[in-house]
Amino acid sequence: MPADLIISDHRARRDRLRALLADTDRPAEAFVVSDLVNVRYLTGFTGSNGAVLVSADDPSADRICTDGRYLTQVAEQAGDLEPVIARNCLAELAVRARDKGAATIGFEADAVTVAEHSALVDRLADGQRGAAPTLIARTGLVQGLREVKDDGEVELLRRACAVGDQALAAIIDRGVIAAGATEREVARALEWEMYARGADDIAFETIVAAGANSAVPHHRPTGAVLADGDFVKIDFGAVVGGYHSDMTRTYVLSRAADWQREIYDLVATAQAAGRAALRPGADLRGIDDAARSVIVEAGHGEHYVHGLGHGVGLQIHEAPGIGASATGTLPCGAAVTVEPGVYLPGRGGVRIEDTLVVTGPQTGGGTPELLTAADKTFTVI
Ligand code: ZN
Ligand code: ZN
Repeated sequence: MPADLIISDHRARRDRLRALLADTDRPAEAFVVSDLVNVRYLTGFTGSNGAVLVSADDPSADRICTDGRYLTQVAEQAGDLEPVIARNCLAELAVRARDKGAATIGFEADAVTVAEHSALVDRLADGQRGAAPTLIARTGLVQGLREVKDDGEVELLRRACAVGDQALAAIIDRGVIAAGATEREVARALEWEMYARGADDIAFETIVAAGANSAVPHHRPTGAVLADGDFVKIDFGAVVGGYHSDMTRTYVLSRAADWQREIYDLVATAQAAGRAALRPGADLRGIDDAARSVIVEAGHGEHYVHGLGHGVGLQIHEAPGIGASATGTLPCGAAVTVEPGVYLPGRGGVRIEDTLVVTGPQTGGGTPELLTAADKTFTVI
């Protein structure tokens, strides 16, 4: 992706946030974003200390703040923004907004501690003759914008998912998933293949769960040895350009029993129903129900112990959550997982997970784009 496209994407994202600042019953004349993932989303800057000031009506007043360690990096990554160099970026940018005349300054209530808030109030009152500006606590503003992926983000998600697909195919080709290997060996081999194919990082701690361990939804790989007849459940992802992939595949080693085919087919049917329910504007709880009802009707409701899926992007778990207690609807352009599972304690479990992008009539006829392409038909390895 050319650098100029990246910069224009970030500016467009700040403009969308700008529009939200005025469009509320509690408008803010300036907004300080201090959640580091949101700072990255709005500017491209990836340092460990930073904040961004977004003006409600004047893009030329937008600023990025970081400390002296990141002088070079901030110029490279966010060269379209004038940097302010300070240690306490939140307070520094709020004072700057105050000094430019802002009477209302918004901040991210879910990214500011009570101690930071109290220090901010003191700092804004410091040296003021008149009233200090009013602080406006907001939650989820930038997270809401991040639900809808732009073209650059979808491209990075495609690349991350392709790395995952290729890495999984490579360890299958090499015969790594076989009786005698340990869960840890399979996990490390898969991670090595992801790095070899251009992953910047792994998306989360790789899950490889064999035999009875596959009934534990988030099992950590151990020295347990894979054996013939085991389910092997593998849940993993790659990070490319900051964007995460997420996929689960479940295989059987050497020979499959009838109960394994049965629960695999059940989860596959539920997963297909969940994918088919991914329509722009669909009720989030309704999407969960489309998949869950398949499992409940088969008598395995109690063995399906988590939500259907989650948004994925700069974080592995982000909005929107798709589950039985979710509220709201699915926006066009959201990237989400669909990952039902059935877990039989002491015996084994199956989860099948894909990452998809929700498309609308203009972009794809309303059929979601499947980013994780690895085969998910019942497979005995
Ligand atoms: Zn996963
Ligand atoms: Zn997931």
